[in-house]
Amino acid sequence: MIEGELSEEELVRYSRQIVLREVGGSGQLRLRAASVAVVGAGGLGSPVVLYLAAAGVGRLTIIDDDRVALDNLQRQVLHETAAVGEPKAHSARRRVAALNPEVSVRTVEQRLDGANAAGLLAGHDVVVDGSDNFSTKFAVNDACVRQGICAVVGGVIRYEGQVVVVPPGAPCYRCLFGEEPAAGLVPSCRAAGVLGAVAGMVGCLQASEALRHLLGTGDAQGGRVLLLDALRPRLRAVPFPRDPGCPACAGAEVTATR
Ligand SMILES: [Zn+2]
Repeated sequence: MIEGELSEEELVRYSRQIVLREVGGSGQLRLRAASVAVVGAGGLGSPVVLYLAAAGVGRLTIIDDDRVALDNLQRQVLHETAAVGEPKAHSARRRVAALNPEVSVRTVEQRLDGANAAGLLAGHDVVVDGSDNFSTKFAVNDACVRQGICAVVGGVIRYEGQVVVVPPGAPCYRCLFGEEPAAGLVPSCRAAGVLGAVAGMVGCLQASEALRHLLGTGDAQGGRVLLLDALRPRLRAVPFPRDPGCPACAGAEVTATR
């Protein structure tokens, strides 16, 4: 049970979700007390940051070392044309302040990697990865598994996307993908292209899964990957097992796997 009560303004602002049986006043207090790190303020991170802020997640850490570029704006809806050249973390913080001043935002203008991930991610309830490379995703996964933090890892290219939720104790991102692919083997959005709205769908799935984890609602989230094909279109949840030899999670305590 989270202590505290909601203000009149909060009751109005969040009324459409407080009315949901699975949220209510207690769920809203849980969101207000929650801390979420978002890795990457780009095509996936944009809807994640916007929807988590709009939903009243109390503390957001936005980790991004990049600056807004003109060719980002087709999908990175956090940022405006006037922000071209500005650090994405700054642009994101300004947008969140305008959307919901109740949310506390901490910005980190660093590139997350295996060396700094544990320190940057410690203390969060959920980490949402919207980075554009496997090296960052593996670093996020490994740090979250070690620290018992729920990771929500997303990826998108062309018209396809995927979301892997790794709650504490569940099979992890490394169980699914094994070793990090060699640089150049995986096509990038720069080379292969991506429809902005598809990135938006994947980011919204990540935001929804993060909120679901914080609220403790719906089906268990571990051990499956959500696959989106926006051309057909269809969304599938495909189960995957733990890799008994996984260097990240084999032997990890199997406790709550929601
Ligand atoms: Zn694993």
